[in-house]
Amino acid sequence: MSRKVLTVGEILVEIVATTKGEGFLEAQPLIGPFPSGAPAIFTDQLARLGTPAAIVSRVGDDDFGHLNVRRLKADGVDVSGIEVARGEATGSAFVRYRPDGSRVFVYNIAHSATGNLRLTPEVDLLIASCDHVHMMGTALSAPGIATVARQAVERITARGGTLSFDPNLRPEILDTPGLRQALVDVLAKTDLFLPSGDEIFLFTEATEEAGAVRELLDRGIRDIVIKRGHRGASHFSHEGRTDVAPLSVKEVDPTGAGDCFGAAYVSFWLGGASPRTALRYANAAGAHATTKLGPMEGAATRQELDVLLSPTKGGSHVQ
Ligand code: ATP
Ligand code: MG
Repeated sequence: MSRKVLTVGEILVEIVATTKGEGFLEAQPLIGPFPSGAPAIFTDQLARLGTPAAIVSRVGDDDFGHLNVRRLKADGVDVSGIEVARGEATGSAFVRYRPDGSRVFVYNIAHSATGNLRLTPEVDLLIASCDHVHMMGTALSAPGIATVARQAVERITARGGTLSFDPNLRPEILDTPGLRQALVDVLAKTDLFLPSGDEIFLFTEATEEAGAVRELLDRGIRDIVIKRGHRGASHFSHEGRTDVAPLSVKEVDPTGAGDCFGAAYVSFWLGGASPRTALRYANAAGAHATTKLGPMEGAATRQELDVLLSPTKGGSHVQ
């Protein structure tokens, strides 16, 4: 039986400005709503690859909530842990790209349905049915979500389940009270660590990547995978280092690439694939995610990844 993966965290809709610029201070063309939320994108990508996947979250009883639940269900995610809250609104994020590729966000998450996440009998049952838990640092920055997320981590790892961890944080929000300790506690139980770029330095005094990696491996993390955006990705363990060059794709919208990459890596890791195979597919999943407008729209099936990885039909590696 394949192991079932639990994710805890925010579900929201994303509404994207169709022009580049500084933000939302004047009326402008928008496109959306798209289903979103980093944990939701992650769980959707897992399900599309055929890995049993479930999410604990909370949405309002409104169209924004329904469109998310419908999408996840259609893609095969176990949605029994999503509470539909009457009288509350589903979270949302407005995003606009600046000309340099950076993003401006307007968020409505902390005071939306998802911000009020709580343990329900359905969530209790779901936690008991999962064998792996994936944590995202953002889930630890909202108090309600953090309480449920930490329970899931405690219970699943206490039963011998495994834990993957994507910090998914910007340094600015590290000042949230209690967040750093929560991150350190999760890291101490982590089997597979998936930082992006400089996040490898969040938990060590080391100033060089190799030193930071060695220290974390020595603390007992089995596998470390560093995401490097359009520069590809790398895997490290006590057995050595593996790098993968980025695939050459036409990037339309990079939001969600890290989540699709992480889900594909976890899917292959749980299946016992070699680091090289897991990295190749994860790299393809991240690249594929950037080719579609909307954060979850680029989550790919195994067949789509195989096409992208085939030298004749798909993308080529950037040299
Ligand atoms: P997010 O913004 O979703 O949190 P992230 O910073 O966690 O993303 P990235 O490093 O941006 O993650 O992307 C994850 C992976 O996706 C990369 O390591 C790479 O394999 C792939 N990828 C991302 N952008 C591109 C690109 N433009 N071309 C090819 N591959 C890409
Ligand atoms: Mg990125």
